[in-house]
This record gives sequence, C-alpha cells and structure tokens, in this order.
Amino acid sequence: MSIFEYAPAPESQAVVTIEPEYGLFINGKFINGKRHFPTVNPANGKKLSSISQASVADVNKAVIAARTAYVKVWSKMAPAERAKYLYRIARIMQERAREFAVLETLDNGKPIRESRDVDVPLAAAHFFYHAGWADKLQYAGFGENPKPHGVVGQIIPWNFPLLMLAWKVAPALATGNTVVLKPAESTSLTALLFAQVCQQAGLPAGVVNIVTGDGAVGAAIVNHPDIDKIAFTGSTEVGKIIARSVAVSGKSVTLELGGKGANIVFEDAAIDEAVEGIVNGIFFNQGHVCCAGSRLLIQEGIHDEVIEKLKHRMSQIRVGDPMDKNTDLGAINSGEQLSKIKELAASGVAEGAEIWSPNCALPDKGFWFAPTIFSGVTQAHRIAREEIFGPVLSILTFRTPAEAIEKANNTPFGLSAGIWSEKGSRILWASKHLQAGVIWANTFNKFDPTSPFGGYKESGWGREGGRHGLSAYLASGKAGK
Ligand code: NAD
Repeated sequence: MSIFEYAPAPESQAVVTIEPEYGLFINGKFINGKRHFPTVNPANGKKLSSISQASVADVNKAVIAARTAYVKVWSKMAPAERAKYLYRIARIMQERAREFAVLETLDNGKPIRESRDVDVPLAAAHFFYHAGWADKLQYAGFGENPKPHGVVGQIIPWNFPLLMLAWKVAPALATGNTVVLKPAESTSLTALLFAQVCQQAGLPAGVVNIVTGDGAVGAAIVNHPDIDKIAFTGSTEVGKIIARSVAVSGKSVTLELGGKGANIVFEDAAIDEAVEGIVNGIFFNQGHVCCAGSRLLIQEGIHDEVIEKLKHRMSQIRVGDPMDKNTDLGAINSGEQLSKIKELAASGVAEGAEIWSPNCALPDKGFWFAPTIFSGVTQAHRIAREEIFGPVLSILTFRTPAEAIEKANNTPFGLSAGIWSEKGSRILWASKHLQAGVIWANTFNKFDPTSPFGGYKESGWGREGGRHGLSAYLASGKAGK
C-alpha cells in the first residue's frame, strides 16, 4: 500500500520573540544571573538563547521573596480573590496559546500538533480547574479550615515543560502556598514566558519565583531551610537523593518519578484500536513520557497479527520537523538523552531481542531516533526492566491472564498500565491486580486535571491532580494515595 504524501505545513515562528538572554524571575522581576548556559533547538542543534544559572544566593533571594509574599499578601488574601488570579492566568495562557505552543516545540523538540493540542490546553485547564477549588477547600473533606504549607519548592523535568509547571503551580497557588520553581535546564523558555504571564496577570510579587539552572539549583531548593514542602517530578535516581535529603528536615515531599508501564493486549481485544493505543502509548512525545506504555504484553494467540498491524501502522508515522503540523514524531530532547536511548537499544540487540524500525529518513542535524520495536524480549533483558524514555517499545508475550499480571507487576516501577479487552469483567479483574497508579482501559495516555496521577513503588509518593493532589499542598491534608 502506498504511503499518503503530505505537503509541508510549517507553523510560523513569527508569534514568538526569543530574547538573546534570560534572567531569573524573583519577586516579580527578571534579574540577570551571573553565569549563563545555552538552550538549543533539539531539532537542528542551533542555540535559541542563553539561560541564567542561579547561584545559591539567588535561590535564597527567591525563597525570601516567596516567604515575604506568603506572610504579607498571599496568606491574608480571601480565597475567592486568590482564585481570580488563577482564572486570569488560565485565560492569558489561552490567549497566548500559540506563542506557548511554538516556544515549547522550538525548545523541547515535540511536534507542534502535540504542544498545540495537548500541552498548552491541558496546562490552562489545570489553572481553571484549581481556580475553582481555591474558595471551596473547606468543603473538600480536609477539615474546616485547611492550611497551606507556606513556601513550596518545585522541580520539574524537560518532557512536558509547561504542563509539569501547571501541575505544580496551579494546586500550590489555589491552596494558598507561594512558589519557588526550577524548570529543567534544557527547557526553561516556556517557564520564563509563564513568568511574563504572572506579571501580565498582576500576580503579587514573590508569589511565583522561577529560578533556572542545573541540578545544583534543584539541590539548593531541596536543602533550603525555609522551604516547607518539596514537589519533584523527574527521575527515580534524583527522587531517591531528594528523599534522603528531606528525610531529616521535616519538609513535606511528593515525588513523581519514572515508569515502565505495561500495555496488555488480551486476545479478545479490538486489534485495530489496540494498535492505535500501542502507538499512542509509546510514540506520543517521542516516548519521553513517564507513564508511556513501554512494555507491550501480547497474548500469544494474537501476537503475529498485532505485530504485523503494528509494523504497518508504524510505517505511516511521520518523523521530522517538529514545527510541521503533519509531524507525528519530533526530535529527542537532548544529545544526552539520545545517547541513553542508543545505549539501551544496543543492549537490547546484544541481549538477543529482535529490533525493527520502519524505513524512515532522519534529519542530518539535531537529535533523532526512529520509532523502534523489540520483539522476543524476556523479563531479564535490560530493555524490559529499565526506563528508556524514548520511542522504543519492548514486546513480551503471555499465555494466561494471571501470567500477564505477574509479568506486568514484575518491575520496580508502578506508574501506569493499559488493558485492551472487549470484556468488562476482565478489565475490572486486571485493574484490581495491577500495581499501577493509573490504569487505562481500551485507551492510553489520557490526562485530565480532575484525575489523580501518581505511582506505586519506585514511581513515586503522593498524587497530583484532582482532590488527592490538593491534599499534598495542605499542611492539614492527608497524603493522597
Ligand atoms: P532528572 O531527575 O534528571 O531531572 C529532573 C529535574 O531535577 C531537573 O530540573 C533537574 O535539573 C533536577 N535535578 C537534577 N539533579 C538534582 C538534584 N540532585 N536535586 C534536585 N534537583 C535535581 O529527570 P529528567 O531526565 O529531567 O526527566 C526524566 C525523568 O522524569 C524520567 O525518569 C521520567 O519518568 C520522569 N518523569 C516523571 C513524571 C511523573 O509524573 N511521574 C512526569 C514526567 C517525567
């Protein structure tokens, strides 16, 4: 069958102004850092701008600004007034949606179709949703007068830069906390545009502070004595360091960490739908998704049919310029991440799994990896156990439902899982036995601010989103498991 050809449909970059250099957003103003580092467009390797590397003294200034704003303004404000700022931020994000989407795609490498249709609308939805909670917390089952922690430190990764910011900042502000946030070093631009939105919304100075830089800035936040709560999203490795650091400090902490989600296809599943869900589960956002369905478990009787259809579907995936509105799979976010993906894929080949990718030309410049599947994977293979965080799917088989559950749970992680079956009773039975914080049935990678998200085991502590997520930002709230 011939491949449907698309003419190029590039999104215009004219809507964004990228400054040559960015400062730190502290106490409502941009302050230039003493040192800078480049941020590049991963699709072509070209430098986009210079980002400030915050010092320990800068982090301290941000914490002082957040504490002052908390004591003098934010904690005294009527909740309904606080809500108005969140609504205003949400509306401005919608008004400036195209700007956010273009900037996110340039800085992160994700397809414009995804930043435009997923990241930015969902980020605005998080602010709308939490704005609604701000003056209703006393009716949410947290006691009569639920209290915020005070100043919260938030550290986020590079895979959904604006969306992870929204997951963190919206509930923190709605519950009455002030914030010091650090974006990931390779994707700071939309956080800095968000800082401009805070100014535009007239948010009181110091309520949101954004300090940019590497892991040392994150560590300075984690170890700062005047921060009451830490909210971290990132790797399990760094999550463990943070857990150790805060263990003796009395700080409250939530950790959203890595995953190795099982996507289970039972033999009674609607196979064409399942194939769409498999593709969405692992190739959405280049597989840079903590809850990706990166381990596919197929019941033996349908294995060959699923693989054949999956290969056919993968041959239609358009890889290339993330700014093209037709692109399905964009660039890998950094050279470092690309090396990690290549190393793990090479281990899959060395350990005897069978590798396959469609025939697709990759651009010469920038960081790229073709959509890839490994079949014949066993539980012992590294590609079945370690998070690859790229467009690489490991395929295993099972004979009985009990074996599927055993294999799915045989991992140190427990963030997400998918079930494909026509039988409601099988879906309910499997979801009861799967150890995963989020389970999708006959769909995958669906997100909603009303729904709690989080993991078991090494995938993290606590929940974000929904009523459970609010409790993590209240000193009187209970950890939302
Ligand atoms: P990472 O842990 O390397 O970095 C995350 C953030 O932590 C960055 O801002 C980084 O600068 C900072 N950091 C690094 N060292 C630090 C330290 N010692 N102290 C404090 N902060 C430090 O992770 P990454 O490579 O940016 O992101 C990918 C990981 O994030 C994957 O493992 C993925 O599964 C996970 N993730 C989880 C979720 C979730 O909700 N569970 C969501 C998105 C990503």
